Amino acid sequence: MYLKNSKIIVIKIGSSLLIDNKKKIRNKWLFEFSKDIKNLLNKNKKIIIVSSGAIAMGCKKLNLSKKNLKLEKSQAVASVGQIELMNLFNKNFIKNKINISQILLTLEDTEQRRRALNAKRTFENLFGLGFVPIVNENDSTATTEIKYGDNDRLASRVAQISGADVLILLSDVDGLYTKNPKLNKSAELIKEIKNIDKNIENIATKSIGEHGTGGMKTKIDAAKICQLSGCKMVIANGLPLRPVKKIINENNCTWFLPKISKLDARKKWIISSISPKGELIIDEGAKDALKKGKSLLAAGIKKVIGKFNKGDHIKIIDKNYKECARGLSSFSSFEIEKIMGHHSNEIEKLLGYISKSEVVHKDDMVEL
Ligand code: GLU
Repeated sequence: MYLKNSKIIVIKIGSSLLIDNKKKIRNKWLFEFSKDIKNLLNKNKKIIIVSSGAIAMGCKKLNLSKKNLKLEKSQAVASVGQIELMNLFNKNFIKNKINISQILLTLEDTEQRRRALNAKRTFENLFGLGFVPIVNENDSTATTEIKYGDNDRLASRVAQISGADVLILLSDVDGLYTKNPKLNKSAELIKEIKNIDKNIENIATKSIGEHGTGGMKTKIDAAKICQLSGCKMVIANGLPLRPVKKIINENNCTWFLPKISKLDARKKWIISSISPKGELIIDEGAKDALKKGKSLLAAGIKKVIGKFNKGDHIKIIDKNYKECARGLSSFSSFEIEKIMGHHSNEIEKLLGYISKSEVVHKDDMVEL
């Protein structure tokens, strides 16, 4: 089962799971859902929740109808509703001793490398603190042109940024059917999709407007982002109690399998950096080691060019000034100045603190 081997899981829940069509809050559902989360946390999985519902909760609080709500007003409504939403999560999750935090992202936060890296680090630090981040789009500042508008695509970007293994889209349908199941008895649930071909796109387009906020189209868009990020994605029915448990036990849902591995996706991302922040000149021994797929160690570094921070993209250059690799540095340029030419076991003494032994880890590097 795909969830069993996953370390980082992003779960997106739509507004209709939190508030029913009579505007009643589904407290019992959320409390039961928190047991699903607890169960995953107990198995050492790292969880991020992407939740819609700010506008729906705001409408409830202000006694407004979601229909015909103008953008400007909806931004204010979302601002009111986001607190209500988080209070709702907190109230239910705390009963299972789950600590939550809030992250509001905009389209730009996820598209711009630097901001995306910041978000990634925040997720990692929250995992370290034992908190479950709950993400929503920052509806109060996003304008139409720079807005996701649907949390399906936002969730897939969150999955990509956080290096998630699986994205679960909890919706109000079981998954993608061959035909509209409400109209055709012969409709069958598609269990696994490797290739999003014309046929799949057609089925998805036809189901627009039938269900939930984003409809199937945005879910397919999300699946495409996941496929290129090495992340599996599943569309499952979130309406029943304990929906994640149901995926594990019954697997009555639609899985989208990635096209490339997570490692390859990461490497592709490294290579696409437009402006590396610095350069490391290495000796022939280190160059041979890189060719064999090994990490770059301090001993093989001859010179540091430029100023960069830990985690920045850098070029790795040989003595003839030929670029041989690109990677993410595990140290700042300042630290590398101190440790270059030295054996890895001297690093702690030279810096005065414990750190990684590789300057650029092989998983963070692409050989050219
Ligand atoms: N961000 C919106 C909200 O919280 C929802 C977007 C969506 O429904 O996908 O109300």
